[in-house]
Amino acid sequence: MDNAEKEVLLSIRNLDVVFGRGRKSFKAVDNVSFDIYKGETLSLVGESGSGKTTIGRAIVRINPCSAGEIVYKGKRISGKLSRKEDREVVRTIQMIFQDPSASLNERATIEYIISEGLYNFHLYKDEKDRIAKVEQITKEVGLLPEHLTRYPHEFSGGQRQRVGLARSIVMEPEFIIADEPISALDVSIRAQVLNLLKKFQRERGLTYLFIAHDLSIVRFISDRIVVIYKGRIMEIAESEELFAFPMHPYTKSLISAIPVPDPIIEKSKKLLVYDPSMHDYMTEQPGLTDLGNGHMVFGSPSEIEKYKKIRFA
Ligand code: ATP
Repeated sequence: MDNAEKEVLLSIRNLDVVFGRGRKSFKAVDNVSFDIYKGETLSLVGESGSGKTTIGRAIVRINPCSAGEIVYKGKRISGKLSRKEDREVVRTIQMIFQDPSASLNERATIEYIISEGLYNFHLYKDEKDRIAKVEQITKEVGLLPEHLTRYPHEFSGGQRQRVGLARSIVMEPEFIIADEPISALDVSIRAQVLNLLKKFQRERGLTYLFIAHDLSIVRFISDRIVVIYKGRIMEIAESEELFAFPMHPYTKSLISAIPVPDPIIEKSKKLLVYDPSMHDYMTEQPGLTDLGNGHMVFGSPSEIEKYKKIRFA
């Protein structure tokens, strides 16, 4: 499908998020713009502290935008909204967190945890309907009816993340921000949670913004990948394109850090270290530019020319 034919669900335009004031202020997100298409999985990748979570939290209206705007289904959702509009955003855009143990109320039963959003938004006709919805989603995430009377501490990390998923999906969202949803889990159960996310996407046409610091995790689940460094976008491309033709040196360094299963190759592998001082941005202004096929790279005009030559050689 051509990018022009896709429906834009969410658009982030020239977003800045600044923490603190005056001389102590810190720009965590710097002039970030990208679109998310309906039904796709877009991953936001970059090292710790690069501003990924801040972008997610700006979308769900936890972090205020210092500049720019966020448009969801053609409507601006950053800044002031009516109570009704705010509730609609909170219901339709759900966030799943990295550490399920920190995000689940330890004193509540699983049934209450899954029902909480339903109660808050009155998303059920009667008690029978609420129970039916909770039981149905419990089954869909692979938990058992008897789990509903238990408490979070009785569950493994993977099961807790299933509970986290159940309480988001039961709200019937359209868009899910998954912030490092598998990073805290054992490697052996990561694939189960990813498969579950994929299943819900297929069945319900969900759109995902997937946040991760590790490119290897997002390689096979993403349609497109946004690489971010110190609050700025360095590169945006379809997943296969990014791995086949990484252009920005920071993207190349992230790819070089992915472990290779073969120990001999792994041992002799050259790790690339990104040095931002390699760019000369004193004479030429850098910007995020489309190489011509939807593959966007941050660079000065002469760097972009070089990238185009390499890409289309
Ligand atoms: P991680 O992978 O570690 O979660 P991240 O890329 O998601 O990293 P953010 O959590 O978005 O990064 O943080 C970006 C920067 O903004 C960090 O330097 C962080 O310390 C800072 N920051 C985040 N929230 C706040 C806040 N409420 N007040 C001040 N600084 C903040």
